[in-house]
Amino acid sequence: MNHHDPTLDPARRSWVPSANRRGTDFPIQNLPYGVFRREPSDVGSLGVAIGDRVLDLRVALQDGVMDHLPGAIRDAGAASTLNPLLALGLDAWGALRDAVSTLLTEGAGRGSLPEGWLPSQAEVIPVLPMTIGDYTDFYASIHHATNVGKIFRPDNPLLPNYKYIPIGYHGRASSVVVSGTPVTRPSGQRKGGGEAADDRPTFGPCRLLDYECEVGVVIGPGNRLGEPIPIAQAEDQIFGYCLLNDWSARDIQAWEYQPLGPFLAKSFATTISPWVVTSQALTPFRAALPPRPTGDPAPLPYLSETGHAGGVDLELEVHLLTASMRAEGLVPHRLSRASFLEMYWSPGQMVTHHASNGCNLRPGDLLGSGTVSGPADDARGCLLELTSRGSRPVTLPNAEVRRFLEDGDEVILTGHCHREGFASIGFGECRGRVIG
Ligand code: MN
Repeated sequence: MNHHDPTLDPARRSWVPSANRRGTDFPIQNLPYGVFRREPSDVGSLGVAIGDRVLDLRVALQDGVMDHLPGAIRDAGAASTLNPLLALGLDAWGALRDAVSTLLTEGAGRGSLPEGWLPSQAEVIPVLPMTIGDYTDFYASIHHATNVGKIFRPDNPLLPNYKYIPIGYHGRASSVVVSGTPVTRPSGQRKGGGEAADDRPTFGPCRLLDYECEVGVVIGPGNRLGEPIPIAQAEDQIFGYCLLNDWSARDIQAWEYQPLGPFLAKSFATTISPWVVTSQALTPFRAALPPRPTGDPAPLPYLSETGHAGGVDLELEVHLLTASMRAEGLVPHRLSRASFLEMYWSPGQMVTHHASNGCNLRPGDLLGSGTVSGPADDARGCLLELTSRGSRPVTLPNAEVRRFLEDGDEVILTGHCHREGFASIGFGECRGRVIG
């Protein structure tokens, strides 16, 4: 895969008109995968986003337009989750992408397809793209780790292991939901807040509900138990990326997190975007992570990827739409914007570290990057940071004020990649509304 990859050619156009519109997230150079249903009772079909449409891969494969592909790839494309495709690895991913790109390219493929093959994205029901066996959440933004550390440990914000280990915890796979799924405010043990005079913990609805703007990494074939993934092979394990909102109950978290880390403050819901943007589509936007500040240790040799463009130049935004704003017909308000390139640890380093003890990753496993924050004040990827735990509230365009999320609030994450000389691509949206 290189910049001469014809599927990335910025001159390539689709015969699907909306794919050529300026500003679309899904030009023919993107071709992200998802799973959708036409009716709630349907079995899911793999789909590829193109403009405002989605190509129904199962229907296309049944009709024989991609019969030149090996049977294993055709079978995987006709499945109801991405997992069989994820298991096949790089060569199969490239072959299917070539076939889909050709089918949709102006002047190269058929030039049209029967109406039912390309339903409108607005008409279909997105479902989780893959069955997620395991979900792990990292903490790879040093800006986020430092800002949060200052709140919980003002004297000692960054723990001594941070610059050596990509910190993470095992999350909960069962509560990962697709964009658009309502998120019920969790109850739990929380301390403070004035209810109990002697400051004993009480059980009740979370008072400090937050989002975390993250990037999700979707794992491909994985590794056998006991066989680590060398850093030079880590990228081959990454099928693609999605947007991820790691909903967080800060009051529950503050009371429960020591000594074993996050538990119920995180496991009530994690939202991911319906579209998985492939590593191949992101090739033009890869870049080296920023150099580590002078005095910081170099990564240990097993995590060293010197000379490798381990980062992804992906601009992330967080938008908020409250119930009042919705009623007034206002558009979502942007709370923050940060670059995924500003991370301290790359996705490849997370993969290699995760498997370094022999732990097996499996097709469809999901890694969260950790909250993506940058150095600027408006690049803070969660409310805990953005409002300094509520002490600096955010004022919205309709004069509402937010310290943390209220019922009816909808959080919308977006992501875009731009680079001179290449087609810009986007990730669609990752949305979730809080209900009481
Ligand atoms: Mn997180």
